[in-house]
Amino acid sequence: MRYIKTFLFLLILFIIPVFLFFIISTSLKSDKANLDNTPTFAIAIHGGAGFMKKESLNDEKYKLYIDKLNQALSIGINILENNGKGLDAVEKVINFLENDSLFNAGKGAVFTHEGKNELDASIMDGKTLNAGAVAGVTKIKNPISAARKVMENSKHVLLSGDGANKFAEKQGLEIVDDSYFFTTEKYNRLQKILKKEQESEKHGTVGCVVLDKFGNLAAGTSTGGMTNKMYGRIGDSPIIGAGTYANNNTCAVSCTGHGEYFIRYAVAHDVSALMEYKNLSLEEATNLVINKKLVTAGGAGGLISVDKNGNISLQFNTTSMFRASYQSNGKRVVKIFKD
Ligand code: ASP
Repeated sequence: MRYIKTFLFLLILFIIPVFLFFIISTSLKSDKANLDNTPTFAIAIHGGAGFMKKESLNDEKYKLYIDKLNQALSIGINILENNGKGLDAVEKVINFLENDSLFNAGKGAVFTHEGKNELDASIMDGKTLNAGAVAGVTKIKNPISAARKVMENSKHVLLSGDGANKFAEKQGLEIVDDSYFFTTEKYNRLQKILKKEQESEKHGTVGCVVLDKFGNLAAGTSTGGMTNKMYGRIGDSPIIGAGTYANNNTCAVSCTGHGEYFIRYAVAHDVSALMEYKNLSLEEATNLVINKKLVTAGGAGGLISVDKNGNISLQFNTTSMFRASYQSNGKRVVKIFKD
């Protein structure tokens, strides 16, 4: 009987107040989240930055690009809304863009000087800092999926060329004949550059960054590289810290542009480092890197990024960047040119 009394006494004195405190503070937190209107998830995608002029894009083509970006965005939103993982959203969105010849990734990859297609891709998990990448692959239908397999099923971060092709095949990914990557539009673009009728094309990569409902950040990038690139040239897209980076403490970044500059300036990691060490906001960090450091250096391009609070920054120093973004509190953006 005495024990029961002591127990009841303790219950009233400690356990009930602690329990009440927990309930009240949880409900206050969720009220605050609602008041702040903080997004529970956020996603941004790009289809490459470049110097496209408004006049060069007729209404039909403009609508086509906007539709594709919208479709890609909806794939990601659907996964995230249904409690999917950020990495799945990144992979599936990029798969969709890789399978569309409009973009310079997968099916629509541009041609090397020799008239071949060599593709690069990378993916990174901001929670674990695990990463995977493939470079110079020629037979993998969806390089971003190969990058994910490297991350999850190998002890390496970056596989290249034939080794990467073989690894992907062993992992059960779809292998295609080189001819799969032939598209007349991209081939003609190479011919024009070779005949010096057009400036070297540096852009058209695809990428996706995500904050999922579990607070995890993820980033991925996939590309055919630059038209007329040298055989064996590898750009920034498969280089972790240059073209792709994700860290739950800061942000997730996917870049597009003149890869050599993005490698030399470690662009994706620089954005994260500026946030971590200098306490810059995502917008301040991306603006500094893209519009100041890269512009001073002469590096053309842009990036998409999302931070751990669901803020999004889409930054480019070119005239155009195919881009789309969505925050779960309702903000949807789909654009190509400045404004
Ligand atoms: N960054 C890519 C590369 O240099 C090209 C692009 O973004 O369009 O390979």
